[in-house]
Amino acid sequence: MSFSSSVKSELCRLENIEACCVLSELAAVVWLNGAAAPVPGDGFNIRITTENAAFARWIYSSIRKYCGVIPEVTIRRSRKLKKHATYMLFLTSASGSGILMEKTGITAVSDGDRCELMLTRKTDQEQACCIKAFLRGAFLAGGSISDPEKTYHLELTSRTSEQAGEIRRLMGFYGLNGRTIIRKGSYVTYLKEGENIVDFLNVIGAHRALMELENVRILKGMRNNVNRIVNCETANLGKTVNASVRQVENILYIAENIGLDKLPPSLREIAELRLEHKDLSLTELGQMLSPPLGKSGVNHRLRKLDRIAEKHRGGPPELKDGDNGEEI
Ligand SMILES: [Zn+2]
Repeated sequence: MSFSSSVKSELCRLENIEACCVLSELAAVVWLNGAAAPVPGDGFNIRITTENAAFARWIYSSIRKYCGVIPEVTIRRSRKLKKHATYMLFLTSASGSGILMEKTGITAVSDGDRCELMLTRKTDQEQACCIKAFLRGAFLAGGSISDPEKTYHLELTSRTSEQAGEIRRLMGFYGLNGRTIIRKGSYVTYLKEGENIVDFLNVIGAHRALMELENVRILKGMRNNVNRIVNCETANLGKTVNASVRQVENILYIAENIGLDKLPPSLREIAELRLEHKDLSLTELGQMLSPPLGKSGVNHRLRKLDRIAEKHRGGPPELKDGDNGEEI
């Protein structure tokens, strides 16, 4: 199952959704996935099509439960790809399309051959829960999300620029900055970057998918760190690493044989910092001191520690009480 389908099946299985929210979600689905055909003198027929079986079931049972009308369902299987099916939910004017439109705040305007669905409800005048539900419906209707192992990309497809505008506007309530492009005649509103996608999944209530994506992000981050360290070493920064290893060895030697508390404060401070941060450069170490110290100052103090350890190994320590390292 693709990551997209697993997010959608999670969304179709959400429980304890308020009635106001289900209707808001249905509004998005009918508006974005629905098509209307006028019935002469008597309203419109509404048709909703999808290729996702779980989503088709969700639409069917939601319309039935929250609008009190029963859509007719047709499944069309393509001859070439036997597994590939299209689910069509159909409500005639006689079987209650008018009730569905009224409950979801959708109207239809027919203009010759063309018939357009319009959204008349103002989602943001309702509760915040309904804005989230509308975005969830928009994702179910035309959304897709890339496998986070490969790339971070989430998009919502719509037919008109007005629909894309409404999606962007509602995303804006949650600080999400969607961008829209036109692709093959569709308006595609997309989000990039893992953080924005995580936020969007949170808004629409796809918490399991969110955890999965966060796990991938953490693993990717760790892999990048390892790669960075490997690259550093191959880029001949092995010297820095070797220097750090030597410094740490000497500091540990001092700690065991002399005692870090015998060191003047300025040397003790850098010794402890080096032990804590073995992989930092001298410049970075210096920035952690207060007041900060430049690279050569840090180097000077660390050399001093080297000398103390070396001298001790060769004989008694020469560190005197008066030596507080202040000449640095
Ligand atoms: Zn609600």
